[in-house]
Amino acid sequence: MPKVVSRSAVSSSTDAQPTASSTAALRVYYCICGEFILVIDKSLASLPKRTTDSAIVIRSQDSEAGKARVFKLNVVMKDPILIERQGGHERQYRLHCPRCSLLVGYQSTPLPIKSGPFVYILKGALTQLQGQVPSDAFEDEKLIQS
Ligand SMILES: [Zn+2]
Repeated sequence: MPKVVSRSAVSSSTDAQPTASSTAALRVYYCICGEFILVIDKSLASLPKRTTDSAIVIRSQDSEAGKARVFKLNVVMKDPILIERQGGHERQYRLHCPRCSLLVGYQSTPLPIKSGPFVYILKGALTQLQGQVPSDAFEDEKLIQS
């Protein structure tokens, strides 16, 4: 008599659909030189921006204010610089394209990447032009953002 136990195992695995669909919605961003820089679970255009320099804010650690985004960066970090801000200075550990050294973003803490609460991507530094995102992937976007 054949057992049907394996069947229930198969059907329960379909409950893992949310993971599969969020993977499908990953966005890929490139440096203007064509180097792959960032893959992230949400469109950069939909993320908040800093008021100081309009950099895109990617939450890199879970906090009471929200969950960290799922993302991976392909960058090299250079020596920190001090930026003058209203009311003081800000230390920026700058992130550069590994191929052409273009500045693409920064964080406020030393390596590793994501060691601080946020990673910032400079406005206009990255493009999705080389992305292999299928056009129907954008249909999920409304669902995810709602
Ligand atoms: Zn580059």
